[in-house]
Amino acid sequence: MKIAFIGLGNMGGGMAANLAKAGHDVRAFDLSRPALDAAQDAGCTTFGSAKEACAGAEAVVSMLPNGAIVKGLYENEVIGHAPTGAVLLDCSTIDVATAREVIGAAEAAGYDMVDAPVSGGIAAANAGTLTFMVGGTETAFNRAKPILEAMGKAVIHAGDAGNGQAAKICNNMLLAIHMIGTCEAFAMAQKLGLDPQTFYDISSVSSGQNWSMTSYCPVPGVGPQSPSDNDYQGGFATALMLKDLRLAMEAADNADAAVPMGARAASLYEDFAGAGNGGLDFSAIIKML
Ligand code: NAD
Repeated sequence: MKIAFIGLGNMGGGMAANLAKAGHDVRAFDLSRPALDAAQDAGCTTFGSAKEACAGAEAVVSMLPNGAIVKGLYENEVIGHAPTGAVLLDCSTIDVATAREVIGAAEAAGYDMVDAPVSGGIAAANAGTLTFMVGGTETAFNRAKPILEAMGKAVIHAGDAGNGQAAKICNNMLLAIHMIGTCEAFAMAQKLGLDPQTFYDISSVSSGQNWSMTSYCPVPGVGPQSPSDNDYQGGFATALMLKDLRLAMEAADNADAAVPMGARAASLYEDFAGAGNGGLDFSAIIKML
């Protein structure tokens, strides 16, 4: 299949490489020369613009930093330039409102389009083990699914356009909340004289058990291997968690949803990132508590 791939960064580079590995004719474009060179080495054909990459494509996949860039790309270089028979997939993490607006414009021009943000970081993008949360019509989802399956281990239909983004930010808001709660509990347990391993042994089989504790423990040397065991390097950067929390707060505002815990988590991550910790894994917030 001829697939245009726009945005070959940390995530998109590995995803485009996996599409090429699966035998697709990947037509790649990025503003960055090193990203284009890496895509070429991975078996993609590179182009001088998104418009050129999209001409004749049967599918377009994008993996870009934010909603304004996604909107600009689709309005100026994809819609009206890719054949209307092409299915469009935006895998970036962007705000729900822009995702719905762009998909609306694509549909009005005769395209099938989905929002398909991912769970999983750079390692999962390289390994082809991402989880995709997909918003769009049944037809668009069914057309997008085999393409996403070449880049991931799970592809889940979340409902109408924008619902992929909604699922992603609600999930990550919950993750931020239980990570902070887990950090607070470990820090307080220690101040009360409890050994962290002992607290883990008790809480991990009691009602406080949660994913941040038993799969991603913020305390070094406790629980399975996690970024805390590597001085909070690698994993999911605080800056990216903050990006998702800001999107969550914007969506909550638009939907008139009460998110007192999400808002507190967002403000704590603002403080932690603002103190120069944006590059550390998000579990490092335990240092601030
Ligand atoms: P990145 O900054 O490494 O890559 C973005 C790429 O887009 C860059 O190579 C940049 O040159 C390119 N680009 C920007 N504007 C462009 C344009 N107009 N045309 C063509 N190319 C353009 O970012 P990333 O880490 O790969 O993240 C991409 C998306 O995936 C973001 O929305 C992010 O929130 C999401 N995400 C990232 C992670 C992660 O761990 N990095 C995890 C889950 C989701």
